[in-house]
Amino acid sequence: MSGKKKNPPVPTEFSLDHEGEELTFTKFTSKELGRIDVARIPRFRFPACPICLELGPDEAEHVPPESLGGQVMVWTCQRCNNDFGTAEDRLRSFIDLETTAYIEATDGSVPGQRAAKVALRSSEGRPHGMFIRSAAAGFEEILGTGSGKLSIKPLNMALVHASLLKHAYLAACLTNREIPMNAEGDRVRAVLLAARDRDADALTNAQKVLGFEPAVGWIEAPGAPPILLMESEESGELRWLFLLGGRFVVQWPLKDVEPILAV
Ligand SMILES: [Zn+2]
Repeated sequence: MSGKKKNPPVPTEFSLDHEGEELTFTKFTSKELGRIDVARIPRFRFPACPICLELGPDEAEHVPPESLGGQVMVWTCQRCNNDFGTAEDRLRSFIDLETTAYIEATDGSVPGQRAAKVALRSSEGRPHGMFIRSAAAGFEEILGTGSGKLSIKPLNMALVHASLLKHAYLAACLTNREIPMNAEGDRVRAVLLAARDRDADALTNAQKVLGFEPAVGWIEAPGAPPILLMESEESGELRWLFLLGGRFVVQWPLKDVEPILAV
């Protein structure tokens, strides 16, 4: 028994205070025009790692991450597989809006700082809600005194975005049975390699050059395959979106490459 509390339901719209900046999230409600079950296409081993293009990749890669309902779909090299790992933990935290909160008693009743894993929720016109998932001894005690100083560790959104891009990109490679060897593919891989290597400056630069806005949303789709490619119309514009793990939506990551849809 992990004792982990069940996620509170995600409201249609909510915002999150992130380093003083208000981020607003909207539950995905686009009208679906069609559904193509990409998961029916078998997993595929490209001759090269789709991220760094090194030949002979032999690490099984889940798309999306296993913790988000993914299955082994593709193979990457050891370095891309391992070194991306903790960036994906942040993606998991983001999807759950989970972060670490610290509390310190200002009245000296409990010594030191105590941490807790918390889920943040808020909806328009209402104060933010914080749901404690698991807490160190003393955390709730200090919270109960009403005199605790609370701080929240912000998520590294650049790495969250890079993780979303990685899974959308791998899903796109699988859809087309091809690693895109063009300028757009190079721009995507530059972001992924900078994230893998935790090169913050290169990551900022590569993300600016690519201009990929993940357009994340949520869908309640229990039992959905790990990857679902959906054609969607929003404001009269047709676009392709991946539903990953039956829970979150990311747009097709390659502007210059159209999905090749298997009949
Ligand atoms: Zn690689």
